[in-house]
Amino acid sequence: MNAHMSPEEFRRHGRQVVDWIADYMAGIESHPVRSRVGPGEIRDALPAEPPEHGEPFEAVLADLNTILLPGLTHWQHPSFFGYYPSNASGPAILGDLLSSGLGVQGMLWITSPACTELETVVVDWLASLLGLPAHFRTDARGGGVIQDSASSACLVALLAALHRASGGRVARTGIADRYTIYVSSQTHSSLEKAARVAGLGAQGIRVVDVDDRTLAMDPVRLRELIAADRAAGAVPAMVCATVGTTSTAAVDPVPAIGEVCREHGVWLHVDAAYAGVAAVCPEFRRLNDGVAEYADTYSTNPHKWLLTNFDCTVLWTADRAPLLDALSILPEYLRNPASSSGSVVDYRDWQIPLGRRFRALKLWSVIRWYGAEGLRAHIRKGVSLAQDLAARIAADPAFEVHEPHPLGLVCFRPRWPGLSPAAADAATLRLMETLNAGGSLYLTHTTISGRVVLRMAVGSPATEHRHVEQAWDDIRREHQALPIQRVTDQTDQTD
Ligand SMILES: *Cc1c(COP(=O)(O)O)cnc(C)c1O
Repeated sequence: MNAHMSPEEFRRHGRQVVDWIADYMAGIESHPVRSRVGPGEIRDALPAEPPEHGEPFEAVLADLNTILLPGLTHWQHPSFFGYYPSNASGPAILGDLLSSGLGVQGMLWITSPACTELETVVVDWLASLLGLPAHFRTDARGGGVIQDSASSACLVALLAALHRASGGRVARTGIADRYTIYVSSQTHSSLEKAARVAGLGAQGIRVVDVDDRTLAMDPVRLRELIAADRAAGAVPAMVCATVGTTSTAAVDPVPAIGEVCREHGVWLHVDAAYAGVAAVCPEFRRLNDGVAEYADTYSTNPHKWLLTNFDCTVLWTADRAPLLDALSILPEYLRNPASSSGSVVDYRDWQIPLGRRFRALKLWSVIRWYGAEGLRAHIRKGVSLAQDLAARIAADPAFEVHEPHPLGLVCFRPRWPGLSPAAADAATLRLMETLNAGGSLYLTHTTISGRVVLRMAVGSPATEHRHVEQAWDDIRREHQALPIQRVTDQTDQTD
């Protein structure tokens, strides 16, 4: 039987683990980017029942190498271009390790004052790095909080919005079916999930039209929908504007949307999960247009593109009162003089769960390691590699690029002359599958105006010019080699 791991044993195994991670980072390019295992393969390789007797820690590392590694998709691979990046970095990993080492549960200020106060400092720091308004800071009426994900952030925003719109009635009665929220076809699915969780149901969701070309929400249509709902006796509770949509990084016109929200007293949540962090660079501060004037809540994910390991979403509010009113519940066993005095922040009141990890450590570690200049350099590198790629694709007559692409995401597709739209879409997907199966890169797809396009999201800290060049070479080569291409070349038609 193993006794508890002693500090000396921990030191020894901890060194093995840190070495393992450093070797993994150094050798990451030797792995195929996307895992090649089939469903159930990993599970079948693992024992169905847990061990009766403790095992040496080395056995865990051995199985990690032989069983789990083949079942991993390497999100930190420099040729991972799928979805959006999910950045990891040395300082973030070490900050997270320290958080685990401390094992602090930071639900209340009193359960670890430094856990709360460091979080207050880093979210205020980040507000300042991103050029967010002073009223989002904790010493003003607002404040920020670290959430596990953007999905949680939008649920919290919705609960605060419902609280304000209903004068607290939703919290008392649990009935939210008179309330409506406004999203676009491009809004992240987490808003629909939040509406379900909050009791609005599918009937409470209004999908506002987007501009055909930019895919940005149409504020004129938004105004019409809100007016129609009010006339019909519904209560518009929240609009979600997106800065950098998940599909194409489209940016909704926040100032115009905010104007509509103000007219009708509707809560404005701005979801900038991916793109928001780019505002560390002055040249991307325009991403914040309208936020200072109109946003009630705003969130962005350092765990996507700002070098902080998942999970780390920061949610700010312009006025914390409705948020705290909506979410504070004080059972006797949590009562303490510090909380009662009102002089401390208890972040459990800013989120759904009670318990919380010491996530501020990893964000603090990242901001201190890189400094503002290092964070700017990281964003600029991703943008510049993506812009080079977009220029290469645009220069190739066999492909077309979706415009605009101001950040790290490029959406494009082969033209497939001679193929019907449906056949062309199938061919694009087949090209993607061939590329991903090859293991040298990983990209994903979306649809724009009903047509399949490929997405290449550049933004991993390990990605260099050569990886993007190699990816583009691979794409062109596989495009040429795809049997469909040879058939259509002979038909000599154009689309
Ligand atoms: C990725 C993304 C989300 C979801 O982020 P999670 O933190 O994974 O919940 C929400 N909104 C947008 C715009 C996104 O791009």
